[in-house]
Amino acid sequence: MKKKIFFGLLLMVVTVGCQAQEEEFTKAKETMVRTQIEARGIKDKRVLKVIRTVPRHKFVLPAYQRMAYSDRPLPIGYGQTISQPYIVALMTESLKLKGDEKVLEIGTGSGYQAAILAELAKEVYTIEIIPGLTKRAEKTLKKLGYKNIKVKCGDGYLGWPKYASFDAIIVTCAPDHIPQPLIDQLAEGGRMVIPIADTYPQRLTLIQKKKGKIVQEIITGCMFVPMTGEEIKKH
Ligand code: SAH
Repeated sequence: MKKKIFFGLLLMVVTVGCQAQEEEFTKAKETMVRTQIEARGIKDKRVLKVIRTVPRHKFVLPAYQRMAYSDRPLPIGYGQTISQPYIVALMTESLKLKGDEKVLEIGTGSGYQAAILAELAKEVYTIEIIPGLTKRAEKTLKKLGYKNIKVKCGDGYLGWPKYASFDAIIVTCAPDHIPQPLIDQLAEGGRMVIPIADTYPQRLTLIQKKKGKIVQEIITGCMFVPMTGEEIKKH
């Protein structure tokens, strides 16, 4: 009987502790949206709402959870990073998603950006080259209940022809040129946001396909991890 009471109390303490921690994360998330994202000019209401919803702390390594809402990228293992919150917001806003799009992401990493996209579009296809990260992201996204995200391990340079074309493409690793397969798989009227690493800093670039022609616009300077894999080396 005494044992039962002890474990009952222990469970209560742990539950209250977890609730308090979740409240801390909610507060930190709100401060992040106000001071890092709204303050820097992100206005799209849907984007702001989703960033307030998705629990970024569930996508980072336990050792970095307390820093999940700080103004910086964070390590996710395998020498890779989850992007800075403002960059996630800026790239997402650039895609101008309305809700019925098919989106391709290259560089799943933690799965955080994919979750943000899944809340704003109809279907998300995301490719990660590192098997360990692919598995972890799949697990995180499943645990959080996302059903409209397909994750695959492979070289994103080639896109995902089986599901092309895509209304929006987001590349979260930096190639030194725009992969032709991604241009080919972008739908007419579609938007692609991609960091290009042929300069320092890299150029975060918006690409639009208008009447079959490619129109490019530089959004800002940026620093992403490089695109790796065999395909990028061949071109
Ligand atoms: N969007 C991620 C951040 C990704 S960091 C997030 O929200 O957490 C960039 C990722 O791109 C890394 O995980 C890296 O392994 C991956 N990457 C690099 N080259 C790639 C390639 N050719 N194809 C697919 N993924 C690639």
